[in-house]
Amino acid sequence: MQVKTFTVGQLFTNCYLVTCPRTQHTAVIDPGDEAYRILSAARAAQLKITHILLTHAHFDHMGAANALVEATSAPILLHPEDNLLFDVGGGAMLFGFPPPDVPNRVESLGEGQKILVGEVTLQVMHTPGHSPGSVCFYATEHQAIFVGDVLFADGIGRTDLPGGDYATLMRSIQRLMNLPDETAVYPGHGPATTIGRERSENLWLSEDYQY
Ligand SMILES: [Zn+2]
Ligand SMILES: [Zn+2]
Repeated sequence: MQVKTFTVGQLFTNCYLVTCPRTQHTAVIDPGDEAYRILSAARAAQLKITHILLTHAHFDHMGAANALVEATSAPILLHPEDNLLFDVGGGAMLFGFPPPDVPNRVESLGEGQKILVGEVTLQVMHTPGHSPGSVCFYATEHQAIFVGDVLFADGIGRTDLPGGDYATLMRSIQRLMNLPDETAVYPGHGPATTIGRERSENLWLSEDYQY
């Protein structure tokens, strides 16, 4: 599995290209903006984009999804509990941004589903709390997980946006903390980390910090 990271848009969202090195099949996780950059990098490396995967439907994670669908015909996959958020443009207006073009053809993701990107398996974990339909994509054979805005290096997802819930988020993060320490964590914003590092150093997860 190869991972390329692009930081895109005004909220510095991490868009990940996850590629099977044998087939060059590639999933684009969270194309938030700058479709041209993502597409030209994929073309230059002769990658075949087969899936557009959304960790959740906030606009900064799906703003370029429509342009990618038009260029590649790859399906967009989203958890249905975020469909409402998706249909209203991912909350862009709340942040004073114009709503992105929203494609009308979206496929549903669910807990435990396995997505095959060439020979790379990504397993879906439904991890609500930041938004109702937030999911993580767990590359079980590669000890890596793409977590969107659930967990960050030294941070956790915000729960003050519509559909957010703190207790629900903490339960979702506890599920992630059951993964092995060495699991690489690729968050929706900021640097990559590991489960072990966040378990020991993330203040938001320490016993005396929780309320
Ligand atoms: Zn978000
Ligand atoms: Zn975000």
